[in-house]
Amino acid sequence: MAESFAIAIASGKGGTGKTTIATNLACTIAQMGEKVQYLDCDVEEPNGHIFLKPDIEKTDSVTIGVPDVDFELCNGCGKCGALCQYSAIVCLQDKPLVFDQLCHSCGGCMLICPTGAIKEKAREIGFVDIGSANGVKFGQGRLKIGDIHTPSLIKQVKSNSIEDGVIIIDAPPGTSCPVIQAVKGSDFVLLVTEPTPFGLNDLKLAVGMVKELQIPFAVVINRSDPNQKMINEYCREENIQIIFELPDDRRIAEAYSVGKMIIDALPDHKKEFTGLYEKISRKFTG
Ligand code: SF4
Ligand code: SF4
Repeated sequence: MAESFAIAIASGKGGTGKTTIATNLACTIAQMGEKVQYLDCDVEEPNGHIFLKPDIEKTDSVTIGVPDVDFELCNGCGKCGALCQYSAIVCLQDKPLVFDQLCHSCGGCMLICPTGAIKEKAREIGFVDIGSANGVKFGQGRLKIGDIHTPSLIKQVKSNSIEDGVIIIDAPPGTSCPVIQAVKGSDFVLLVTEPTPFGLNDLKLAVGMVKELQIPFAVVINRSDPNQKMINEYCREENIQIIFELPDDRRIAEAYSVGKMIIDALPDHKKEFTGLYEKISRKFTG
């Protein structure tokens, strides 16, 4: 591909096999001879590295700007505390107190301070690792434990996107801000689900999210069971394509439990992942 093409792999809930699909698809594309990058944007719990086993070439610290008050200059006016919508700076007895963890780095308090008492200082929120694994360019974010700035770190992971080739984005589970940050700007979304009532409920939420973002999408059923057709029925009613089904197979679960790729442990599945990529490509090449 001359330009980049981003496929986000998302799911309405955790544990549906999102990373299994994302890593196996990335490796399959590499083995087809195409340039491909895997970006693990599930920054609170990145686990694609367990399967891809990348060599990490560099790690960057990611910081955000938070206020640093110079009490020599502060006149205790309270304007900073009154402005902050997140209670990240609070004036107590005419003295501003900063709660770094709550700060959204909007810069408002620095602008409103009449005496120039507030400067910006850097606070580390996590790390971005860059490397490669068997022909797949690799990137992942790691949020520091207890930090809440997930979207900021995801944005930083995505800033390392390649400019030509296929980018596989492993999104966080759910449908909240971090997922939207991971998925937005993608060309196509695969919504991974499983044939259970919970899977169906969360799939409906995820479908609502991608429709809102106006990104083309299709559904992948993991642990597919011929006796459980609730996902198939929903997709038929809603005119949603089921583009891929991975069967409920004990050997796949065994490979997963020891950190093995399906296409390595069970090579018969490789042609299915090749078919999945070809189907997605055809949607855009006609
Ligand atoms: S930078 Fe914005 S979010 Fe942070 S303390 Fe100042 S006003 Fe609040
Ligand atoms: S706005 Fe500036 S001067 Fe006023 S309380 Fe805050 S830090 Fe102090």
